[in-house]
Order: sequence, then structure tokens, then C-alpha cells
Amino acid sequence: MAHPHLGSDNLKKIVKTLRNQFVDMGGTIVFETALLDLKISNNTVHTAYTTSGDIEADYYILAPGHSAFETYRMLIRNSVEFRTKNFAIGSRVEHLQETINKAQWGVENLPGLKAAEYRLTAKSHGVLPVYTFCMCPGGMVVPATAYPDSNIVNGMSLYRRDSRFANAACVAAVNPDRLIGKKSSPLEALEWLQTLEERFYRYLNGFQAPFCRIQDFIDQKESPATAESSYPLGLKPAALWDMLPVEVSSSIRHGLKDFSKKITGFETGIIMGLESKTSSLIQVLRDKNGLCCGFDNLYVAGEGSGYSGGIISSGADGIKTALNIIEGV
Ligand SMILES: Cc1cc2nc3c(=O)[nH]c(=O)nc-3n(C[C@H](O)[C@H](O)[C@H](O)COP(=O)(O)OP(=O)(O)OC[C@H]3O[C@@H](n4cnc5c(N)ncnc54)[C@H](O)[C@@H]3O)c2cc1C
Repeated sequence: MAHPHLGSDNLKKIVKTLRNQFVDMGGTIVFETALLDLKISNNTVHTAYTTSGDIEADYYILAPGHSAFETYRMLIRNSVEFRTKNFAIGSRVEHLQETINKAQWGVENLPGLKAAEYRLTAKSHGVLPVYTFCMCPGGMVVPATAYPDSNIVNGMSLYRRDSRFANAACVAAVNPDRLIGKKSSPLEALEWLQTLEERFYRYLNGFQAPFCRIQDFIDQKESPATAESSYPLGLKPAALWDMLPVEVSSSIRHGLKDFSKKITGFETGIIMGLESKTSSLIQVLRDKNGLCCGFDNLYVAGEGSGYSGGIISSGADGIKTALNIIEGV
């Protein structure tokens, strides 16, 4: 009850139903269409230039998600103001679900229950705070990049949560300025993140996930060539601790040690890939009516705005944006 779970398989049906409802109410959906640029004058957007032609409207709500680097850059070029914000970065850990069940329940299976969960935080002790996020019991680790030359991972569970594996993001909370080592503009922060995601791709020239055993990450020593995993595109052993930014890596090492004391067998799992999308590292500047500062009819909503993280808060941000328009008319 405390952790409602839709299941990624159910999302497909839910989104289709939402779409049909939107169309029934007079909405139009244009697929395979990219927004390229905006025509702006006197603080007002007049036209959206897209790959399917120009769109003219009274109001423009952009909800590009937090991976749309080129859309962010287009907006910044058009004087839409952003600032950097705290975010979190790290990797994904994965265990056999029975290890987590045993640690949490004392037995590997409990009739009537699907799969045990955990939510862990580690005290910082002079390093960055580390926590687990988006824990997916009975789930799978999936490739999650939007680009052909970058490599990042994420996790999901189907409704039944019945895979043999449990995974979670294991991330360090940090400010982009601290990572980059200087006060950075939103463009510099985006550039930094994109370069890191591309470095993970170039390491293997593909979408295999670099991985090591959690105990080996703690000890900084090489792992065996293979490991059991749900990740569909294959794993490759790597010195993952060297691939992450130094401060993130050392903080995660402390965090993993701490988690291994809290969950019996935690250190027997694996840690893999780059997890860089827990939330956006930049945030649009909004006025009191939710508009992009300095604009009469432009809104950035959802996760791409930097004000939400996750399905529900992004949906809520969309509703708030719609209400702002309705109440302002
Ligand atoms: C594998 C995975 C598992 C997740 N699991 C969960 C979970 O269990 N619970 C949870 O709460 N959240 C989860 N999330 C996060 C969740 O998916 C996001 O928070 C949410 O989708 C954000 O919604 P949004 O509408 O703001 O952006 P998005 O869903 O990212 O949608 C943005 C859309 O805009 C499009 N776009 C971008 N730029 C342009 C452009 N220029 N022109 C046209 N289109 C453009 C993108 O292609 C995309 O379709 C998960 C994410 C991933 C990747």
C-alpha cells in the first residue's frame, strides 16, 4: 500500500487509454515529429518549427523529459533561462531476488508476497550522501539512453515482479558545480553530463554494461568475466570505480560498505553501468504563474522542467501547468 506499483507492462495499456481519452476530447497527437526551434518576438512564442511543419498556438507547453539535450540547448539559445540544481549520479546494483528476500524476510519465498524491497541511505561521513533509488524488486536492468552514442542504464519491474533479480540505483547526491570543479552554466553542466554518458558508450563501443561485483568495487579489484544478470545486452567486467567521477566513486564505495552491513549478502551482488537520470541537473526559471521567466505563453513542464522526478510528480506538474493557463485566461 505504501509503495504503489503499476508495472511497466501495464503502463503500455494505461498510456494508450490516456491517449485515446485525449483524442476523444479533441486533442491531436503527431507521432515521429521533433520540435526543432521556436519563433519568438516580444516575449511571445509565435510558431513551433517541427519536422512535420509549423505549429501556431496561443500557448506552448514543452515537456521534453530530462534527456533532451538538443531541446534544452535550443531553449537556452532562445533566451529561456535555466539554472543548475542538485541531482544524483552513480550506477545500478543488482542481486538475486532470493538474496534480498532472505535478508528481509528470513526466507527465500513467502507465499502471497511477490518480492522483498529495500530503501537504503548511508550517512555521509565527509563524503557525498549515498542512497538507493527506484528499487525494482523482481525486475530487470534496462538500457535507457536516448542517443546512439551514449550508454546509461535504468531499472523496471513488470506488474508480477517475478523475475529472479532485484535492482536499484545506487547514487550520490551532488551539485553539478562540485562535480565540474567550478561554477558552471546550465550549458556547461549539460556538456559535462553528455560527455560522461558518451564515455561509457566509448568504453565498450556499444550498449553492454560495464560491471563489477559489489565487493570488488569496495576493494577496487577486478571481477570475474561473467555474472548472472537480467541486463539484456550483456555485461563486461570493468574498473567501474575508475569510470565514475572520483568523489562519486569514493562516496559510493562508503555507501556500499554500509549497505552490506544492513542487508545480509548485499556485497555478493553486482554494480553496473552509469545511472545519470534520477532527475534533471538543470531547472527552468519560472515566474509566479508558472511561465518561463520573461515569456507570455511558454511553459516547460514535467521532468524536463527540473521541478519533478518520476511519473506522478511529472504528471502533477503537467496538471499544475494546465491549471495555470486555465486560471490565467
Ligand atoms: C527504465 C525507466 C524506469 C522508470 N521507472 C519509473 C518508476 O517506476 N516510477 C516513476 O515514478 N518513474 C519512473 N521512471 C521515470 C519516469 O519515466 C519519468 O519521470 C517520466 O516519464 C517523466 O515524464 P515526462 O512526461 O516529464 O518526460 P518523458 O516521459 O521523458 O517524455 C518526454 C518526451 O518528449 C520527447 N521529446 C524530447 N524532445 C523533443 C523534441 N524536441 N521534439 C519532440 N519530442 C521531444 C521525448 O522523446 C519523450 O517522448 C522510469 C524511467 C525509466 C527510463
